[in-house]
Amino acid sequence: MTQSFVHVSGVTKHFGTTQALAGCSLDIDEGDTLVLLGPSGCGKTTALRLIAGLESPDAGTITVDGETLSTPHRVVAPQRRRIGMVFQDAALFGHLTVAANVAYGLTRAEIRDGRVAEALDMVDLGPLAQRRPHELSGGQAQRVALARALAPRPRILLFDEPFTGLDTTLRLRVRAEILELLKRLGMTSVFVTHDQEEAFVVGDRIAVMRDGVIRQTGTPAEVYARPSDAWVATFVGEANLLPLTPALTDAGTTASRQVETLIGAVPVDAGRGDRVVVRPEHVRLSPGGRAVIAHVDFYGHDCSYTVQLDDQRVRVRMSGAPLARVGDAVRLDYDGPASVLVPHAA
Ligand code: ATP
Repeated sequence: MTQSFVHVSGVTKHFGTTQALAGCSLDIDEGDTLVLLGPSGCGKTTALRLIAGLESPDAGTITVDGETLSTPHRVVAPQRRRIGMVFQDAALFGHLTVAANVAYGLTRAEIRDGRVAEALDMVDLGPLAQRRPHELSGGQAQRVALARALAPRPRILLFDEPFTGLDTTLRLRVRAEILELLKRLGMTSVFVTHDQEEAFVVGDRIAVMRDGVIRQTGTPAEVYARPSDAWVATFVGEANLLPLTPALTDAGTTASRQVETLIGAVPVDAGRGDRVVVRPEHVRLSPGGRAVIAHVDFYGHDCSYTVQLDDQRVRVRMSGAPLARVGDAVRLDYDGPASVLVPHAA
């Protein structure tokens, strides 16, 4: 079997009594972008720092392009790994020009080789080479940080929440520019974020982490449609976890099943457990019925309803203006693709 470009195998890491990583395994193909997605403190940055060589593993190995870079007994120094890193804060030296910031850390031979201009051209900042950081916008500063990471021609780029410091409009623009550049260069990259939307936009694949463990890896579409458990289902977007009716809880493992839930028949074709994952946009609401609207949020492009159905609260999302008001009696029908069963306990 051929090994993937980046292969992280069974890595654990403790800081004192805190277990930051509890057996983390990852595979990234060359040219792909992987996003580590998880809540604060789940071990994302630790995983990134281990790949960069800034930490050593207690157990496990990290291999890049067939070269073993980390084992508990041997860690190749960060500067010898050809791995670039971009942080949340651009962290530029205020007293140095843009060009000098990019040149920082390059060898003389690399500077003579024209690497500074090459990297600044990649991020379209050649004309600003002689400016100082205080003369740059937030987006430009982040592009200088990217140029600095690109200048040594790394084989992987690591990004730790790189867009967090930017306001919303700038964030979307800088993000799109950086992603386009990474694809053009065929660069293998790893991003860390706690923002599900960002993870879905950025990642070819995402690894969803919790408490030092990777709970699920897949394309964003796979993880959204086929979450592995109740926690993943609710972390990657909104989800109703509807109980199965008792008669159908052990319906077997046939490829396609109809599961009777409180909102009618939901086709299920994967998973095991006692809850069916129903995304709010897959529920249709119409007038009349035994459910009652408890809350309505109108966002312009769509509308979110919280609906009381017997002892269950169900979230519904439909495009357009509000169709019902608080207190209205409504009927809920499932209108989506086959869903999955998950165990109730996360
Ligand atoms: P955030 O999104 O808040 O940055 P994270 O998912 O990146 O969080 P890590 O920074 O990897 O999480 O931290 C994982 C755990 O390890 C946390 O409990 C953290 O407190 C702990 N930890 C990380 N670095 C150290 C350190 N140098 N010394 C002690 N504990 C640490």
